[in-house]
Amino acid sequence: MKNSLQSAIDAILNKECVVFPTETVYGLGANALCSQSVNRIFELKNRPPSNPLIVHISHIDQILSVATSLSPLEQKIFEAFSPGPLSLILPKKKEIPSNVTGGLDTVGVRIPNHPIALEFLSAVNLPICAPSANISGKPSPTTYEMAQFYMEGKAVILDGGTLDIGIESTVVKVEGDKIYILRSGYITTEMIAEKTGILPCENTAQEHHSPGTRFAHYKPKATIITFEGQIPKASKNSALLFLNKDIDLSEYSHSFYFDTVRDYAHALYYTFFQCDKLNISTIYCELPPNHGQGVALRDRLIKAAQ
Ligand code: AMP
Ligand code: MG
Repeated sequence: MKNSLQSAIDAILNKECVVFPTETVYGLGANALCSQSVNRIFELKNRPPSNPLIVHISHIDQILSVATSLSPLEQKIFEAFSPGPLSLILPKKKEIPSNVTGGLDTVGVRIPNHPIALEFLSAVNLPICAPSANISGKPSPTTYEMAQFYMEGKAVILDGGTLDIGIESTVVKVEGDKIYILRSGYITTEMIAEKTGILPCENTAQEHHSPGTRFAHYKPKATIITFEGQIPKASKNSALLFLNKDIDLSEYSHSFYFDTVRDYAHALYYTFFQCDKLNISTIYCELPPNHGQGVALRDRLIKAAQ
């Protein structure tokens, strides 16, 4: 039997975790106001405690229950992309326990754009902190099957089927009149520039990276090898993920072709999951061009290959 919304609410009130679908990836949520509940997330995921969590709310009115302030530019960005795949870093309210933010005095906030997430968040009526519902270091779950694989028996799981975007949110921080992208995601620098008239700074100094970007991420069991241009020769038990069409693939027994960068990003984690089921040893992944949504996909592929 599938888990119901009521069982999810009960779990949160009992200091347990709930896996819920968002438009990006499945999240592993807990009451963001209760440090004991938040600890459970770190245990279930084996997540390093210094990697902060994003707090999910259902309405912009709740933002000042989590953050102490929202400047006009921050409000403009948040309103332009919410609900949606953008997380905004704001000064943290003292009610948010320090294990949510890895000890930082800032907190990441987002309104996910998924009917089940919004229904769950408004019914439970609490801020819910949630990282991706995978074991740390592994590919994020983008299908119900993957969510079950990681968290069955450990948390209540709400079924949202296959998710729309399949890659994590863009993490953004405003400092004065500058906008920094701390982690690339579905929302691109171009989209932010279009809405605000300010071109965000990307790939800047280390202090403007999210703490979480330091850790190993997105890795299937197989070794990932990235390439640009020429398709590499197949090796024993290998698979190919690519965007380029005009090629002879006869030497690859498993190849996954994507028409667009968006399709590639959408399918990436599930394709890694399938490759693991097929016991593939090496996955050759074509890097997309480094602009638009290619930026986030490249980031995930390069991290998976490290
Ligand atoms: P995940 O939960 O896997 O989607 O990762 C959340 C990302 O947001 C990680 O890269 C975190 O480091 C980042 N993040 C969350 N809160 C903060 C914060 N207060 N300051 C900077 N980055 C943050
Ligand atoms: Mg994650």
